[in-house]
Amino acid sequence: MKVLLLNASEEVLKVIAWQRAVKLLMAGKARKPYGHDEEYEIKTSSGVFYLPTAIVLVQYIHVPYRNVAVNKSNVLARDNYACAYCGKRLSNSTGTVDHVTPQSRGGKHEWTNVVASCRPCNNKKDSLTLVEVGKKYGIHLKVKPHVPSRNIMVLTGIDVKTHETWTKWIEI
Ligand SMILES: [Zn+2]
Repeated sequence: MKVLLLNASEEVLKVIAWQRAVKLLMAGKARKPYGHDEEYEIKTSSGVFYLPTAIVLVQYIHVPYRNVAVNKSNVLARDNYACAYCGKRLSNSTGTVDHVTPQSRGGKHEWTNVVASCRPCNNKKDSLTLVEVGKKYGIHLKVKPHVPSRNIMVLTGIDVKTHETWTKWIEI
């Protein structure tokens, strides 16, 4: 079980193990966010303990801003594990990163030039530009690549059911 840790300002900090969340709550360092009713039910020897799926720190901590790295797992997370050309569902093993303007044609390895792609689409795309691949194969880009918010980092490797209760804090 994973718990979303929020700063006192309710900005997303990271995902922590439930045991650590319990410790923070017990120590009075964190509390349940106002209006957040989703809880895990944890059975202990002394009964059932209800743990909020997200907790908020009592004291604000300063976190330096870090850019989100342009790598495969982050690109897949940003694009919701779907091929940007055909919409096919992707996993970390079936997904690839495609450069919209190929690097061989001067395209940069940056957020606004990369998309998640299945292997067949990526192979067709190859070193073609969007216009060329559209003419040759009828393949078109369905999404506009953008710089993601830092929040998507915390979702890497977290299953959908778990993070559904966090959507009010996480914007992709
Ligand atoms: Zn595809």
